[in-house]
Amino acid sequence: MEILHISAECYPIAKVGGLADVVGALPKYQSNSTISSQVIMPLYNNKFTKENTFETVYETKLTIGGKVSIYRILTLKNKDIGFNIFFVDIPELLFNDFVYSNDDTDRFLAFQIAVLDWIMTLNEKPTIVHCHDHHTGLIPFMMTQCKKFKILRSIPTVLTIHNAQYQGWFSHNKVSLIPEFNIESVGVIDWDGSVNPLAAAIKCAWKVTTVSPSYMEELKLNANGLEHLLSHESAKCVGVLNGIDAEVWNPETDNYLVGNYSVSNVQSGRKMNKKWLCKEFNLDFEKPLFAFIGRLVGEKGADLLPEVFKYALEKEKISILLLGSGHDEVEEQLNDLIDAFSGSYNAFIGYDERLSHIIYGGADFLLMPSRVEPCGLNQMYALKYGSVPIVRSIGGLKDTIIDINEEEGFGICHDEVTVHEITNAMERGVALYQDQSKFRKIRKKMMGIDHSWNASALEYIDIYKSLKN
Ligand code: ADP
Repeated sequence: MEILHISAECYPIAKVGGLADVVGALPKYQSNSTISSQVIMPLYNNKFTKENTFETVYETKLTIGGKVSIYRILTLKNKDIGFNIFFVDIPELLFNDFVYSNDDTDRFLAFQIAVLDWIMTLNEKPTIVHCHDHHTGLIPFMMTQCKKFKILRSIPTVLTIHNAQYQGWFSHNKVSLIPEFNIESVGVIDWDGSVNPLAAAIKCAWKVTTVSPSYMEELKLNANGLEHLLSHESAKCVGVLNGIDAEVWNPETDNYLVGNYSVSNVQSGRKMNKKWLCKEFNLDFEKPLFAFIGRLVGEKGADLLPEVFKYALEKEKISILLLGSGHDEVEEQLNDLIDAFSGSYNAFIGYDERLSHIIYGGADFLLMPSRVEPCGLNQMYALKYGSVPIVRSIGGLKDTIIDINEEEGFGICHDEVTVHEITNAMERGVALYQDQSKFRKIRKKMMGIDHSWNASALEYIDIYKSLKN
């Protein structure tokens, strides 16, 4: 069985968030003697592209809206990332410094058409086409409706929704960019008067998955306008919890860490990472260190962080470190706190993969006050690295974290996204930190939880098999 994952992101090539981690790990865990799982993604003008070499496997012309571009399909020549990876290189459209930009409609439309054109040329077609998020959402539609892709109609398609907030909407003026289809089917790509690639994929894919079971249920009530569609299509929808790549995210072998450790030497290993963080960011090592890593957007509750931090720092003897970027106003407010709380608060506004690993390996607590959290990977990395997650019980956070007040608990949960509830949860964290014997017991329990992809990869394989028969 040949699985082809189609995605805008894939770790370690191009990462903006959890989508990259999932697409960079799942194929490794799916591949076995009978299954080969590969990925195709755009070629970006990023660090990975500059540092590696590629080989052209296919080259042709792509015509979109009367405009002709040359495009190439490349493979990686010098490196093994654990699975076969292909790149779509369209120099004037896709080869940007960043994964996402403001002309994404044209860029990802071209990407999707190029992928299907290329599949058409393959002698061995994929058994399953697995699309990820709205950037690949028109693929199931084009495979079933576009005349030129008629022979792909019988290939089952799976859509995984990593985040339903973003749907890739564009105006009907651009419908002519899609290869010819019976215009009577235009309703299939429409949702509320716009072309909606995510809605189109939910309608056309043979199976729809979300990245946690709770998120699947929540989407039927709140999906940025797609609630009714998801309820209507619920028979083909299922939630499969994401896993983590235990090869990349392992504190014993993680090259990014200052000190490696396992459960047996967790105290000394984590101490080295925390010391490094405190020195680098001018924080007091003796105080409990709370951290936040992520996109500074409303979904993550980031707009409340400046007020939360101010309140908590005035009230408690704690240190706080933030790593993230997003809304300008939030970035500014978070930066402004640095001088006011010098010595107990710091922030790195930007993206830094290495720093994120050291934070998981050194911070005592990881904050995730999310309003929406389809799965969340941060809390799973935190568990594996022994940093106690403080989470709002929603989506994947609800499926993975049990509060310490429960018998088998190992994290701290709150129900609402308010300054009061978040700071209350942080206070509970301080109390836990003061009870070091309980803190250490919980840490050991967390680190022993298996969130690797093993179980979830099998669930996906069962889904593929059910579609093939
Ligand atoms: P998202 O909604 O952003 O996809 P996830 O929890 O699923 O959230 O995944 C976030 C991933 O991105 C994690 O691997 C996290 O460590 C990483 N990440 C987020 N922001 C940053 C940042 N500023 N620097 C480094 N890594 C980051």
